[in-house]
Amino acid sequence: KCHLESAKMLNLDSSVDASLNLQSRPDVLTCTYWKAAIIWEGMFDPRLYDEMHKMKGSSVALTVFAVGRYLDAYLHTFLNSAEQHFMVGLPVTYYVFTDMPEKVPNIKLSPLRSMKVIKVEKNSRWQDVSMMRMKSISDVIESDIRHHCTHVFCFDVDQVFTGRFGSEALGDSVALLHAHYYHLPKYLYTYDRNPNSKAYMETGDFYYHAALFGGSWKNVKALTKACYQGIMEDKQNNVEALWHDESHLNKYMLLHKPSRVLSPEYCWDTSIGFRRYIQVTRLLWAPKYYDTLRTP
Ligand code: UDP
Ligand code: MN
Repeated sequence: KCHLESAKMLNLDSSVDASLNLQSRPDVLTCTYWKAAIIWEGMFDPRLYDEMHKMKGSSVALTVFAVGRYLDAYLHTFLNSAEQHFMVGLPVTYYVFTDMPEKVPNIKLSPLRSMKVIKVEKNSRWQDVSMMRMKSISDVIESDIRHHCTHVFCFDVDQVFTGRFGSEALGDSVALLHAHYYHLPKYLYTYDRNPNSKAYMETGDFYYHAALFGGSWKNVKALTKACYQGIMEDKQNNVEALWHDESHLNKYMLLHKPSRVLSPEYCWDTSIGFRRYIQVTRLLWAPKYYDTLRTP
């Protein structure tokens, strides 16, 4: 029950968790050593979190990129499933970044939910499409999101919501445990180990998955800006981090600990097979078709 003890306000999130009676679970890690909660099914009462965020007036920006062939392959399913499961009951604005705004599917959104489509250029390398998201997100937080939303969540498009992904996931600075690394010893984490890269790190706390991250607009702005700067510095030095934006995200989270961590329920890959500790899946990896989607 370390969140309860940490109610002495190490961070804002943990004091809220204490007042909403966030519970521990015996079979999994539910708290980091810096006393950020790791959110698993069974720890929280969804109604209390929803009520609290409604009362506080929380509103969420969801950013997602669908550039090139990723649009037809994934966007419709992603958005439809988000309508069913993502932050239901709270105001949500989708920020869809694409090179083909005219092809964005017309989806009927629930009340309190709206969509903004932002045109971006298509980089020819998929690595650059992925990395340059950091710059676009940082720009749109500055120009738009910060005037309309309290929180931001940034998602890969190649995934499907399958269960509640709700207000319990909101926090000051939110990172996700990578489903494939959750059970592995640290020496197998694939951090960037090239000392010439800004993403270089020997060891860290967890291996975080860049398929989603979030936080207050202020923190997500700082994160995306820092990652983008690291990426550009690497380009000037002719290096590229092993896992691109994900390597830079891991480095940032090492230096700026997240205040809230999401368990792999929040981005599960069914190809891993049965794991007793996964009691619900909230977001699933969609099939990857790298051969056809990533060829220019
Ligand atoms: N992306 C895109 N078009 C591309 C490459 C990437 O829209 O040609 C976006 C898309 O949102 C995708 C994300 O960048 O989900 C990250 O790329 P990908 O999902 O292929 O990376 P992986 O999940 O394999 O690390
Ligand atoms: Mn992906």
